[in-house]
Amino acid sequence: MTTPSTSTPAPTITLTPFGTLPDGRAAQLYTLANTRGAQVSITNYGGIITRVLVPDRLGRLADITTGFDMVEKYTPANPYFGALIGRFANRIAAGKFTLDGKPFRVTPNSASNGHPCSLHGGATGFDKVLWRASPFLSPDGAAAALKLRYLSKDGEEGYPGNLEVAVTYAWNNDNELRIDYHATTDKPTPVNLTNHAYFNLAGEGSPTILDHILTLNASRMTPVDNAVIPTGQITPVAGTPFDFTAPRAIGERINDDDEQLKIAGGYDHNFVLDRPAPGLSKAADIYEPVTGRVLEILTDQPGLQLYTGNFFDGSCVGKSNRPYTRRAAFAFETQHYPDSPNQPNFPNTILRPGEKYQTATIYRFTTRS
Ligand code: BGC
Repeated sequence: MTTPSTSTPAPTITLTPFGTLPDGRAAQLYTLANTRGAQVSITNYGGIITRVLVPDRLGRLADITTGFDMVEKYTPANPYFGALIGRFANRIAAGKFTLDGKPFRVTPNSASNGHPCSLHGGATGFDKVLWRASPFLSPDGAAAALKLRYLSKDGEEGYPGNLEVAVTYAWNNDNELRIDYHATTDKPTPVNLTNHAYFNLAGEGSPTILDHILTLNASRMTPVDNAVIPTGQITPVAGTPFDFTAPRAIGERINDDDEQLKIAGGYDHNFVLDRPAPGLSKAADIYEPVTGRVLEILTDQPGLQLYTGNFFDGSCVGKSNRPYTRRAAFAFETQHYPDSPNQPNFPNTILRPGEKYQTATIYRFTTRS
């Protein structure tokens, strides 16, 4: 569609139909292909990353993200496969917060261990809306990109203010997917945007991620109470199963007799990133020993949620007809800490009129021998 006529190889963008939403609107799929033949496909429904095709150490391409091959399969409930998350990622306790002395209620669309909360933006979060999409090639030919825009209206899911959101996915020739998030508002409002892609670097539909080797630049985390809401403490990971400051298999201690692991049925926790300086820095490194695939995550955000697919039960069958069983994929969501609007100790998540919300995350796919 937007391939320039030039003899040097260039990234391409292909547009294909992706099915029909319950209200009759059509969804589209944008496939960004770089000059190495690696590809990322994104639909304008929920800004969902549906496919990530990257090489193993022998150059063999495989799709490594969970998801479906048509929008009709995304519209029933699913665990936020590949989706953009907003207006506020993760949980807000009981769906309530106070802002500038005024109480607000946001949709309590989930419950953890019997305690209601608002999860990932409410009943119709940014993962369930149609975004306005504009594909483009970067002028230097280094990346294929997709800009998505959405206006979240004042009062949507209970949140104050009209929030203008723009998210740009750029897939470059070094197999890096950069996601830039922008937002402005006309009333003070909490904002916390992320992407909820799940990966299994051995290939989508492979049975487990417990053998992946994880290193996290995080020496602290935010423990949760029985409602999976942060207690407000920020505690060291040293000496706990949350210590990934040196490389460890994800499964090595996941079944330890540890109160935090028991509450969430595995890892479902926010890590406090060690940030050398403002700007992008490396947060996570995940290595899959059989294929040699590596995922590095860089971000400017203060936190990272590791979720190890603890609630996957095999009832959800993905695009290659394989069921997604417990711990068959992981998500790393770069973010502000959960429940920040109710947590005075946590960094600020309130965006005010005149301010610009601007953050970035990079997923870099490489291989290691
Ligand atoms: C949450 C989990 C939740 C998952 C999918 C994660 O970000 O922390 O508790 O189950 O998203 O819904």
